[in-house]
Amino acid sequence: MAGFSPDDLQQIHKQLNQRVEKGSIAREANRIFRSNDKQRQQSGIEDHRNATAVFLRPQDIEKGVQYDIEKVFKTTLGGELRRLNQQDLIAFQKNIELLQDHYVKGITAKQIINLALPIDIERANTQILMAIPVRQKAGMVHFLTNASKDSDVKEHHVNVVFSNYRNLMLSPKPMTEQDVKRHLNYGKLKFECDCGRHTYWYQYMASIGGYGCGRIEEGYPKIRNPELSGVACKHVLRVMRYILSPLGMNYLVKQLRKDRSQQANIKRNESSKALSRGLEQQVQAFEKNTNTQIVKNERKAIQELARRSQRVAQDRQKEIARSHRQNMRRIAKEQGQQAAEKLVKQQQIQDVQKLQQLLRLGLIDQAQFNRFKQGL
Ligand SMILES: [Zn+2]
Repeated sequence: MAGFSPDDLQQIHKQLNQRVEKGSIAREANRIFRSNDKQRQQSGIEDHRNATAVFLRPQDIEKGVQYDIEKVFKTTLGGELRRLNQQDLIAFQKNIELLQDHYVKGITAKQIINLALPIDIERANTQILMAIPVRQKAGMVHFLTNASKDSDVKEHHVNVVFSNYRNLMLSPKPMTEQDVKRHLNYGKLKFECDCGRHTYWYQYMASIGGYGCGRIEEGYPKIRNPELSGVACKHVLRVMRYILSPLGMNYLVKQLRKDRSQQANIKRNESSKALSRGLEQQVQAFEKNTNTQIVKNERKAIQELARRSQRVAQDRQKEIARSHRQNMRRIAKEQGQQAAEKLVKQQQIQDVQKLQQLLRLGLIDQAQFNRFKQGL
């Protein structure tokens, strides 16, 4: 076993076992999430009115090149803590565009692992060894994971919403284990964790990307994660590993069976006996070294990032073409063909300006720029 000792594993097992026997896990998780939300709310109220505001909001970023020094923000973009400038806002706009609404239906467990930062994966592989589902309601599963040794808490809580669960639950068609695997374990999901890493590094990304559940974060992580890199903390990564393992598949098959055959849409808590058994199975998996290591596929990660930037360029191109056609039709109807032709010329100038902006933001390259320009 790499990165941790058998003693570490035993210790984590023992501690989590004691925790599940104690009960009231759901109540504790609710309390933590609520208090996190309250804290964030309190620090956000009034903040936007201050000259040295902490949270960089959408409206501030939108100003982009028009940004002046009415407010002083700091960023670590480029490495060191310094004052934020116009170029930073343009860089932030680009980062947002490459993520915004790309995962409105959710993101898959595999994508999360592939897009994760190596440091988060290493921490998950060496510190966070166990994740266990403690309750489920209509496709929202509450997981408990261990915390790292140096953490000030003993456990963490991760919520996962399986996007296709309701469909499978309500579908009159017979359901196979393969369906569950494809649509749930390998399907789209949304998530949140109660830890600081998720809250300060990743919650904003989850909110704009569309794969967050729980509170929406609108403040850009200009200090902690200005590049918007990575995707999930070590606790979420361990949960994703569990979801992709045979144990995770069995769990979801059983839950869905219950929801389909008995009453749907009710809370299903695992008994402390079932939880102890689940933890024991994970110890065995580690001892056999099966389905426990979190390994990312770098090639898939690059493909996914390329897909996003291509989509941004295509969306922009479509948007330009659409407004073009609409205006043409309108003017031709209202003012006749000559006026429409005049407008086309004006619009071409505007379109070129839009393309130049894309080029400047680095969302398209010179070859794409030339190609799109010819098509105008
Ligand atoms: Zn976490």
